[in-house]
Amino acid sequence: MTVVAPIAPRDDLALRAGYHSPQVDVEVRLNTNESPYGPPEGFAAALAEELATIHWNRYPDRAALALRTDIGALHGVGPEQVFAANGSNEVLQTLLLTYGGPGRSAAVFEPTYALHSHLARITGTGVVTGERAADFSLHLADLRALVDRHDPEVVFLCSPNNPTGRTESRDVVEAMAADTSRLTVVDEAYGQFADRSALDLIADDRPFVVTRTFSKTWAMAGARLGYLVGPAWLVAELGKVVLPYHLDAAKQLAGRVALRFGDEMAARVATLREERGRLVARLDELDVDVVPSDANFVLFRPRRVDAEEVWRRLVEASVLVRNCASWPRLEGCLRVTVGTSSEDDRFLDALEEILTS
Ligand code: PMP
Repeated sequence: MTVVAPIAPRDDLALRAGYHSPQVDVEVRLNTNESPYGPPEGFAAALAEELATIHWNRYPDRAALALRTDIGALHGVGPEQVFAANGSNEVLQTLLLTYGGPGRSAAVFEPTYALHSHLARITGTGVVTGERAADFSLHLADLRALVDRHDPEVVFLCSPNNPTGRTESRDVVEAMAADTSRLTVVDEAYGQFADRSALDLIADDRPFVVTRTFSKTWAMAGARLGYLVGPAWLVAELGKVVLPYHLDAAKQLAGRVALRFGDEMAARVATLREERGRLVARLDELDVDVVPSDANFVLFRPRRVDAEEVWRRLVEASVLVRNCASWPRLEGCLRVTVGTSSEDDRFLDALEEILTS
């Protein structure tokens, strides 16, 4: 029986599908850019010890001060310059709730992370869309033209950019850091896999922030923890908008415990960067075009075999990659997350078989 809903959602939401990555039951999961490794040895035991200290009948520290202090120490800033939330998605949403909204707009440069425009829309923020060049780089002249024409309150950069993989060029990031008439958000969810960061451009006199996540490098996608570093006055504004006690006590502890394992995390990043090099080198030998990557994933386009067919046959081989083939500006593209060497070999062997049989 079909039930007709007695009330419709907001008109501006009704036609948009939510953001999700289809999950299929496979042995090799290389579709959501997670870490292929669990947290380091010792993490679970250390966390269990800390969890035993929680007063579950009490609300958590609303300001998450200890966690923000520890994150700040990682970047050489105080807690007043750190805003933490449930994944960097919630950080982005809080930024838009605070600085976007009806009558305001956010600029995105496609193709880029789908949540930037999606979150803009669900917060009632207008979206102005700029284009990247054919090699997916963002040119300063194109950025300036869009910003001058639409005067958006918020500009999203994504560095490295998901799903294409490259960092934004330094001239683009510096130009936006110098533009103090709007908020620039540099999404560095994959920042640790790259050589370049915008963190050094953060200053008290500019609305310029860098967002990061525990979901990738810190092997904690399951914990949902992300943060931004920015000027203290901006962090204070976000604190007025976000829900009270949005960060639960267990998550605050999980983040702090993870930060004790910095060396192990750095070693994982180094391993994954090396593995990325090996993955790209083998992909280069196959009949595909490969987009250079500074992240823990690689975008590629099969030259002769239809990408949908490649994706389907990879699933048959129990390997799941992200199917971007029908996404605007990414026609015929697939995106693979860097996994362990054996996962990547499973992917590469299956791909080679599909492309040559
Ligand atoms: N930004 C980018 C560019 C991403 O790719 C992702 C995860 N797919 C996120 C932010 C969100 O990460 P999380 O909410 O897990 O911190």
